[in-house]
Amino acid sequence: MSDAMATHEVLNQPPPLEGYNLFAADAVLRAGLHREGAAWAEERLERLGEITGGEPLRWGVQANTHPPILRTHDRYGNRLDEVEFHPAWHELMRLAVGHELHALPWRDPRPGAHVARAALFFLTSQVEAGHGCPISMTYSAVPALRAQPELAAEWEPRLTSTEYDSRAMPACHKRGALCGMGMTEKQGGSDVRANTTRARALGARGPGAEYELTGHKWFCSAPMCDVFLVLAQAEDGLSCFLLPRWRPDGTRNRFHIQRVKDKLGNRSNASSEVEFDGAWARLVGEEGRGVPTIIEMVNHTRLDCVIGSAAGMRQAVAQATHHAAHRRAFGKLLIDQPLMQNVLADLCVESEAATVAMLRLARAYDEGPRDEGQRHFARFATAVTKYWVCKRAPALVAEALECLGGNGYVEESMMPRLYREAPLNGIWEGSGNVICLDVLRAMARGPEVVDAFFAEIELARGGDRRLDAFVSRLRKDLGDFRAMETRARRVVERMAVAFQGSLLVAHGDRAVADVFCATRLADDRGVAFGTLPASIDFAHIVDRARPRPEGS
Ligand SMILES: Cc1cc2nc3c(=O)[nH]c(=O)nc-3n(C[C@H](O)[C@H](O)[C@H](O)COP(=O)(O)OP(=O)(O)OC[C@H]3O[C@@H](n4cnc5c(N)ncnc54)[C@H](O)[C@@H]3O)c2cc1C
Repeated sequence: MSDAMATHEVLNQPPPLEGYNLFAADAVLRAGLHREGAAWAEERLERLGEITGGEPLRWGVQANTHPPILRTHDRYGNRLDEVEFHPAWHELMRLAVGHELHALPWRDPRPGAHVARAALFFLTSQVEAGHGCPISMTYSAVPALRAQPELAAEWEPRLTSTEYDSRAMPACHKRGALCGMGMTEKQGGSDVRANTTRARALGARGPGAEYELTGHKWFCSAPMCDVFLVLAQAEDGLSCFLLPRWRPDGTRNRFHIQRVKDKLGNRSNASSEVEFDGAWARLVGEEGRGVPTIIEMVNHTRLDCVIGSAAGMRQAVAQATHHAAHRRAFGKLLIDQPLMQNVLADLCVESEAATVAMLRLARAYDEGPRDEGQRHFARFATAVTKYWVCKRAPALVAEALECLGGNGYVEESMMPRLYREAPLNGIWEGSGNVICLDVLRAMARGPEVVDAFFAEIELARGGDRRLDAFVSRLRKDLGDFRAMETRARRVVERMAVAFQGSLLVAHGDRAVADVFCATRLADDRGVAFGTLPASIDFAHIVDRARPRPEGS
């Protein structure tokens, strides 16, 4: 008798989507890398693309199946305030740090470095999103830290090291260090000016000086980082501080982890509640200038929210198109069923729009230091794009999950993890409303940012009449300030799709640009995904997005 049960013949199930190169399989990412000035990084992306299609997929599962454990005290009752992770977490971190995802533009600031780093981060984020949090915060902290040159001189070499060193010990003895962020408190996260944590100067006050912080942070992700940029109230108002886990005398800083949060998703990443009980810290920038100082960090983490959401969308599309290409129903492959083609093509277009926007945005970070217009563009377009891409991600992932039918609802398919992760970037670093209000504030400060934004969009003028008409209407609407705050979401959404549409018209695949203009700009669609007009070349759009592991 054979081992197999007579009733257990497995038919019509797709092969797992693994063993493929995530970069090579992504035509949109490859073209964007070249277009936005980082062709020099192609080999690096090829390498990481190959790696991420293999073992890291398993690490992603393991790191989320075995979430981190908080160890507040040792067996004798001494405070430890450490978090234990599954080895898979450390592998993911080692991979990301080793490939410079936390530091590439600071280590090698050549043109295109932010674009290259965005593309690399896009690959690892598809495999596992949680470990991207400390990686992103470390990348983002460096420009804020540079406001205090002597602190930057001490910490930047550690934060940009390519060695991942997870040991809980003073950073001066480690081979590499990571940085976190503490702004949000119990009484408020968006309204950080309501922070109650107090900072008391230990001697002379002023930039770089020593203080003691007393208070708490309600969300402090990745508490095993070596150092944190935090906000606290000093004599002259809300200020930014650098707070290490260890004091200069080699003792543990009074940074006490109270709890690790039980979260919807992002479960591999420890997000904690901490108390500062007279914690030692140093002032970054001037007292009372905490928000302008830390905003440098916030802008970069917002860029990463866009990259992370675009990555989740891309992986969801990869999984959905792969499944549909191998699963039959009613006598045909799902990918050949007209209504499924409509759904998949719609998802592919949305994902492509997110990817091109993220890469263009990253280029503005490359050019910003030398070009004022790009600096204005980066500041404004980051908020606009963060709002919209993060808003589209949960809807897209839910629809992609449905493409797998019941299999998509089962943990092993990866879709539940993508689904749970999808709303997070919309909350982090400014939730939807707060981001829209931020866009309005930037507009009110002067015409430069809006001019820089429209200058970018106008590069595509003449490419598609639907885009031209949409942009003209949008410009007119922006001149009407009545009830602007109430209308903010609608205005920002339209700016975001104008930006995405301009990129697709100027550089994208013609069929994709055509669908985008017809449906997102000229409104020839329903509300749900899969309501595109019937005249579209669905097969072409789906085909170019679908990854093809060898032999499938
Ligand atoms: C998994 C996770 C990890 C996190 N990690 C960190 C971390 O490491 N460090 C850190 O500092 N923070 C962290 N955060 C906190 C996060 O940044 C905040 O949750 C976020 O900024 C929102 O703040 P809040 O939760 O206090 O919500 P609130 O500020 O109370 O906002 C609630 C809602 O009201 C809306 N709202 C607020 N003001 C207005 C207004 N004027 N008009 C209209 N609507 C408004 C917001 O958009 C939001 O939808 C983390 C959050 C999560 C979920």
